[in-house]
Amino acid sequence: MTNTVNLDWNNLGFDYIKTDLRFISYYKDGQWDEGALIEDNVLKVDEAATALHYGQQCFEGLKAYRCKDGSINLFRVDQNAARMARSCRRLLMPEFPEERFVEAVKKVVKANEQWLPPYGTGGSLYIRPFMIGVGNNVAVRPATEYIFSIFVMPVGAYFKGGLTPTNFIVSEYDRAAHVGTGAAKVGGNYAASLLPGKEAKERHFSDCIYLDPLTHTKIEEVGAANFFGITKDNQFITPYSPSILPSITKYSLLWLAEHRLGMTVKEADVYVDQLDIFAEAGACGTAAVISPVGGIQNGDDFHVFYSETEVGPVTRRLYDELVGIQYGDVEAPEGWIQKVE
Ligand SMILES: *Cc1c(COP(=O)(O)O)cnc(C)c1O
Repeated sequence: MTNTVNLDWNNLGFDYIKTDLRFISYYKDGQWDEGALIEDNVLKVDEAATALHYGQQCFEGLKAYRCKDGSINLFRVDQNAARMARSCRRLLMPEFPEERFVEAVKKVVKANEQWLPPYGTGGSLYIRPFMIGVGNNVAVRPATEYIFSIFVMPVGAYFKGGLTPTNFIVSEYDRAAHVGTGAAKVGGNYAASLLPGKEAKERHFSDCIYLDPLTHTKIEEVGAANFFGITKDNQFITPYSPSILPSITKYSLLWLAEHRLGMTVKEADVYVDQLDIFAEAGACGTAAVISPVGGIQNGDDFHVFYSETEVGPVTRRLYDELVGIQYGDVEAPEGWIQKVE
């Protein structure tokens, strides 16, 4: 097996760590150059870049996992490539070809292999592809030049002491408009979420719950993660809306709930005043994997799902199945895993 750098693998968090090499490609005169792996982690861009003023940028997030046999797994990287292309179309940015996206991710992971947390530590290599509009352009129009880059950094297990539920509070703010950019993975949605997130944390909640921006009656997102609930009659339900970011983790759980756990699954409205139908609830995404939702504060009402201290049995089974697939311990559905070689 390859050597690893000297890090305290069991105590990694989610903080930036500069690794050896990153991929970078420039778009100019209507085309992407061939791209390169470089050491420099500092970007120099024009002061009139559209990314700086008008938020013309998007990003992705996925992980590479070290398996027991020493090989390296990428989880559904083709889905991240496709989603980034959709984000680009929404913000009038040139798509980075999906096959080239996958190849570039593999190249960066391979080039930083010594930063991959060893199997069994619960850690993984977080991969952050992003695109920014550069060049100079003060008028409000799409840039003519772009940078696409991918960096990686080792991250720790989200839950050190096992799957612990946390509590959330319903926000009065929206993170995105009904048919705005909610479904695109763009920085502007995150800028809009900083204040609501801060207010939730000041009140000792993990993060806030966003309701649908049209009627403010239905759950949409849990911070920067998708929501799912397990009903008392064992159905897997997750909200559907044009302002939700389509989480790859969420769609993976939806598939696993149906095909591996034999549950009925559906995307449907989740009314915040009808949470009694659920036996369990969770938040899901690449960073948080599955984060059990203990309770939700909505105005004066505090609703507890399974428990504020224990993870529910279905959430636990979904977690074990998903993480088992990611680390190569459980057989993956066709096409979900690509090896980095
Ligand atoms: C990235 C993201 C998610 C999670 O998506 P995954 O593909 O599962 O990582 C959920 N909500 C928001 C707002 C996101 O940006």
